[in-house]
Amino acid sequence: MAMQQEWANKDYYGDLGLTSSASAAEIKKAYRKLARENHPDSHPGDKQAEERFKRVAEAYDVLGDETKRKEYDEFKSMMNSGGFMRFGGRGGSGFPGGFRTTGTTDFGASGFDDVGFGESFGQGGGFSAEGSLGDIFGGLFNRGGGTGRSARPTRGADVETHITLDFREAVKGTTIPVELTGEAPCTDCHGSGSATGKTSTCPDCGGSGFVSEQKGAFGMSRPCTRCGGTGQVIEDPCPTCSGSGTVRRTRSITVRIPAGVIDGQKVRLAGQGEAGPNGTPAGDLFVNVTVRPDTVFTRDGDDLAVTVPVSFTELALGGAVTVPTLDNPVKVKVPAGTPNGRTLRVKGRGVARKSGTAGDLMVTVEVQVPKNLDATATSALRAYAQAEKDSGFNPRAGWAGAPTGNE
Ligand SMILES: [Zn+2]
Ligand SMILES: [Zn+2]
Repeated sequence: MAMQQEWANKDYYGDLGLTSSASAAEIKKAYRKLARENHPDSHPGDKQAEERFKRVAEAYDVLGDETKRKEYDEFKSMMNSGGFMRFGGRGGSGFPGGFRTTGTTDFGASGFDDVGFGESFGQGGGFSAEGSLGDIFGGLFNRGGGTGRSARPTRGADVETHITLDFREAVKGTTIPVELTGEAPCTDCHGSGSATGKTSTCPDCGGSGFVSEQKGAFGMSRPCTRCGGTGQVIEDPCPTCSGSGTVRRTRSITVRIPAGVIDGQKVRLAGQGEAGPNGTPAGDLFVNVTVRPDTVFTRDGDDLAVTVPVSFTELALGGAVTVPTLDNPVKVKVPAGTPNGRTLRVKGRGVARKSGTAGDLMVTVEVQVPKNLDATATSALRAYAQAEKDSGFNPRAGWAGAPTGNE
């Protein structure tokens, strides 16, 4: 909570002389310029310059980190809107690198998780209006693997992308190439940010990663901005990435989508987000999945549904109809006297589950009435109509809508 309450009174963009539409490069540039201009070394004893320097460092601490910046922007827009609107499915549990609930299926190193699936179904994603303020803040605060103490990101930013799958791809699972533009490890220094790998103790914090400052009567310690809290500074920055360890580029990755994803689901791929600075772990990739409807099947959880056109005689006399599945077609036995609209269950021909079992195929029969019968069929049908009447069959027997005394 502390950080967000602090954010309420901050104007980090203003501190850097920027607006909220500033690019990452503009933020970096403004920070470097202002930090240089106000550096305490060049203004010994100048309290105002020192204060400006701290404000600029604090602003860059948040705005210079894509994840924190996003949280800050969201926090500010929530404040400005005067309420807490939808908190778009960004996960609420806030376990760094762990399993996220609320509409996100965890699909990381541990693989696809059935429990996650249940959560998705149950909650439908997104932030629920009942969530308390503390929950939201807790989520914000804990996200991104940071503890709220490190001055620079300790992992890469999470990335979100979007893919559209065919119905069958979604049911069966698929691999799909995705192009992502963002921070990726610098190939020249292998992500370390150093040209030779040489580091030295940070002169600002003496290697502790924290510096002390006086805030009124309280002595506070805050993460060292010079070394990002690591206690070490690079002596010879890699010229390709200016010491950050990452470069912006477009990379192609193959995303494995687990079997059984549903339309609107968000799949999390651990470690497939942006590269972290100076060799720290990568962020996560969140893939929003849209599923194109199928012309034959619909889905209800693990069950597949299909409607099969049949003739009246097939239902009256019984028989077998051939029904498509996601694999080979199956013959489904239709008992004599099956009513129109009856749904027959074919066990195990639905959506495969991780456990090895599968849902069922629900086959609904729908009578097709012929429009143009030839003479032979017409005359046979007339004979049948009479025979049906003679047999005592009355389609409206027992019908509540039947006019009384006039059948
Ligand atoms: Zn480099
Ligand atoms: Zn330091």
